[in-house]
Amino acid sequence: MSNNVENMTLKERIFSSEFQSLPPHHALIPINNAMLFYTLCDEALNQIGRFGGKDLIAICDAETIRQLREIDNFLSNIRKMHVLGMSPSHWDAPVEMHTPPPFFKDVDRLFVLVSSNLAISFIGTIIKTNNNNDNNNFDGGWSYHRTYIQHLLHLFVPSVLQEFGFYKEDLDKLTEITTRIMSVQTELLSGHESLVEMDKSELATVLEILKVISSKKSARDVLYVFVEQISKVVPSDRCSIVRIWGREDTVHVLASHDDANLYDMTVPLSKYPEIKKALSIGDKVIINNVRNEPIMRPCLDSLLQKGINSILVIPIVLHDPEVGSLLLRAVRKDAGFALREINFFEIVTNAAGSALERAQLFESVQQANKTLEKLAITDGLTGIYNHRYFRERLEEEILRSLRYNVPLSCVLFDIDDFKKCNDTYGHLFGDAVLKEIANRMLQIVRRTDIVARYGGEEFIIIMPQTPLDGAYVQAERIRKAIEEKPFEYMGKCVSITISGGVAEVIQNETLTVEDLLRIADQCLYQAKRSGKNMVITPKQPNLP
Ligand code: GH3
Ligand code: MG
Ligand code: MG
Repeated sequence: MSNNVENMTLKERIFSSEFQSLPPHHALIPINNAMLFYTLCDEALNQIGRFGGKDLIAICDAETIRQLREIDNFLSNIRKMHVLGMSPSHWDAPVEMHTPPPFFKDVDRLFVLVSSNLAISFIGTIIKTNNNNDNNNFDGGWSYHRTYIQHLLHLFVPSVLQEFGFYKEDLDKLTEITTRIMSVQTELLSGHESLVEMDKSELATVLEILKVISSKKSARDVLYVFVEQISKVVPSDRCSIVRIWGREDTVHVLASHDDANLYDMTVPLSKYPEIKKALSIGDKVIINNVRNEPIMRPCLDSLLQKGINSILVIPIVLHDPEVGSLLLRAVRKDAGFALREINFFEIVTNAAGSALERAQLFESVQQANKTLEKLAITDGLTGIYNHRYFRERLEEEILRSLRYNVPLSCVLFDIDDFKKCNDTYGHLFGDAVLKEIANRMLQIVRRTDIVARYGGEEFIIIMPQTPLDGAYVQAERIRKAIEEKPFEYMGKCVSITISGGVAEVIQNETLTVEDLLRIADQCLYQAKRSGKNMVITPKQPNLP
């Protein structure tokens, strides 16, 4: 490479140290044919034009503009067109002409589209050959990575960056657009390219993988199918996707091709020096013989024990650093990874980046929703279900019981003389009793039973598939568990008892939540009247 920056070619420029800190730009999805370059630019115009709206900005060299069929339709929808060189004179659209930087030659091509939520870039150089029909007459590629595109803007039209600031990407749309472009590319790509590192069948595989993972709904599926698919193409003994949050020392293994059930297993980062290195250099790490790699020395024994010979780690470029760092890791027992295979890994991770990231975001939203849902149905003091949830569930369970003619019971409990307890030992002591009673109940009931706080000092347990007799036995067990062990809190030790009333769903009789609760409440009242610390049922239970 030339030492004189001024004399660098476009290719040297975009591979120069300025770009070293960037995402794996060398994993630009390759374009080896000039016609393909223009066709893909047209496709991007079509796609982004559909989504981008009025705030689109394009940066394009003058020759590429002349070659684009879609450009006239596009102009009415554009905020500004920046042209490197002379633009065609007939346009009345907002056009700004720029003198191309000295390294940008006649043979170089650039096309960048930026909107407030999407961006995509195409870049490369025409290779002049004697044969006009040469299929390998272009050396370049395309990318949708934000950082990469920002650097391109910086190199060519820095004013756009100031004008535009930072855009927020729409990952769903981006995934759709990149998949479409990939699909056009695969269709058009002609046979046996030698200059390009990938051939048609490999690109077709990348596209297939993209399509499959884009169709998956849950984050888990996206991640698993991704590792599963690529390990079909490039066999490895383990292929996984891992995540590291910020500066955490923990590796979260999100998916591994040999275990469909694995999700978010955590392991210490110290066990993976290769991941640590990939994170620190922001680029792939290739270890083709663990014995010869100094950084692997601390864990060499365990690697050799597992028979691992080579390791490959590729960072997956994310648009939103909030979701942590995502990396692909593959290991092999026998041969190392060939350049062609590494290339495949890089291109497929690069192409799938937005889909994988979308899966991650989706997951964190889901997680947040789950937490919210849980909060909404949980009683704050005791951690058991709240009244609202209890009613919904009881309604469902009654319907099920009536429809399938399966038994269903519930037991309503009330603490005996709780007012006195509060008055004597204080409200805090009372709260501790409520929590402890909830705990004891949870320990006794079956997993399918639903324990809820019914009111202040009242609890209710829904017992699906349980007839009256069974419910009575359970209720008695709970009553005894409260009676037998005094409650201790802040040095005080107090005996507490509870009373319970049981109700059972009877076909043609108890049809609603109200029916069932009325019966349980009547029984409870009876228990209180008869001296407390007992469980009453609407009819004599049959005991074993
Ligand atoms: P009985 O044996 O007839 O049920 O008598 P009781 O004193 O338990 O009945 P009552 O319904 O008169 O009193 C219920 C008491 O429960 C009143 C209230 O101070 C107390 N209580 C209700 N919710 C809470 C709570 O969240 N924390 C505490 N510490 N006490 C509560
Ligand atoms: Mg009460
Ligand atoms: Mg009470």
